[in-house]
Amino acid sequence: MQYDHILIRYGEMALKGKNIKKFILQLQQNIQQKLKEFTNVKVKRTQGRMFVILNGHDPDPIIEKCRHIFGIQSLSLAIKVENDAEKIKEAALYALKESSHVRKFKVTVKRINKDFPVRSQEMNQVLGRHLLINTDDFTVDVHQPDMEIKVEIRQEATYITSAVIPGFGGLPVGTSGKSLLLLSGGIDSPVAGFLAMKRGVQLEAIHFHSPPFTSERAKQKVLDLSKQLTAFGGSIKVHIVPFTKLQQEIFREIPDGYAMTVMRRMMLRISEILCEKEGILSMTTGENLGQVASQTMESMNVINAVTNYPILRPLIAMDKSEIIDISKQIGTYETSILPYEDCCTIFVPKSPKTKPKRDKAAYFESKKDFSGLINEAVDGIETIKVSPVKKYDEAFDDLL
Ligand code: ATP
Ligand code: MG
Repeated sequence: MQYDHILIRYGEMALKGKNIKKFILQLQQNIQQKLKEFTNVKVKRTQGRMFVILNGHDPDPIIEKCRHIFGIQSLSLAIKVENDAEKIKEAALYALKESSHVRKFKVTVKRINKDFPVRSQEMNQVLGRHLLINTDDFTVDVHQPDMEIKVEIRQEATYITSAVIPGFGGLPVGTSGKSLLLLSGGIDSPVAGFLAMKRGVQLEAIHFHSPPFTSERAKQKVLDLSKQLTAFGGSIKVHIVPFTKLQQEIFREIPDGYAMTVMRRMMLRISEILCEKEGILSMTTGENLGQVASQTMESMNVINAVTNYPILRPLIAMDKSEIIDISKQIGTYETSILPYEDCCTIFVPKSPKTKPKRDKAAYFESKKDFSGLINEAVDGIETIKVSPVKKYDEAFDDLL
């Protein structure tokens, strides 16, 4: 006897009415994609449930991978047996004996298949008795059990599941369209990308790179962060924009107080051109109200004026400590705090305006034709596909 299935529960998706089919198919596809390396594993749908069939694979690494897939509310190991009372008893006993740190248990039987001769309530008692007789140090506690052994008698078979392992929830990546994540090397933007993905968004990323002022390491850091984000979805296309010339020109031509505002506007203009090319319908940033000069209400108003694309700002109302907590939880924090500067940290005006005005920004920009440099930056974009491969070194061999 062994656990041969993983039961996938997909909570929120059940609320999605007509779209449910699309969500479920996408979730199944995402799970299959994620488990590609486990050659014999199969992902199967039955009514209202999804199962990973282990076919002899060790469940632990598979559970670890599934935990990161958005759309999964929780998962449990499961044993599949025939609809036969003796087999069900045997499996329930196995589930109880396999569990660790458990003293008090409870059995819950759900008889979906009404052809099964024993009713749920009676089957509960049969199983409870069987477990108590065949073990020494367990007791039944229906109110506060350490473990609930769930027995689901379905048409095709019976499934016995034990501990519930929480997933990340959210919606399957790919069900909410694509967004272009403005990815710096900082703490915030990877967290913003994670939260957008959690709502089902598929990401591409854009990074503004200013060599030689910003180093190869800064670029690698962004690729590294992108790779960490792929754990929650599939591959991510990362677009590296050569930003040096345009940035130098901005800092030469635009008065100090407006240089940063104009630089941000240029970033959005270039991002919008890329969105149009790639058929992407929105952008995502790590902006957070009031955090720095460029993130006051006035700044956002002036920066945002150059595009009418929707900009997703998942962090807008969060405290920094909450953002840091998430970045630690998703594994990007350690990379984000590496000290490789990005272009915004290096070109810092002495006194950036915290309350810029739209007309003034437009006026300063009109003094100089930046369109040539914008097009040059767009033409120079280098696109790197970052995939969720197993080993860091191997990943970067074919990336750089
Ligand atoms: P982060 O931690 O994401 O760097 P931040 O708190 O440092 O954010 P800013 O430097 O003001 O804030 O940047 C605001 C947002 O602008 C970032 O979250 C990111 O989405 C985008 N951004 C900043 N610099 C770059 C860059 N070099 N390339 C791409 N996007 C950038
Ligand atoms: Mg930053």
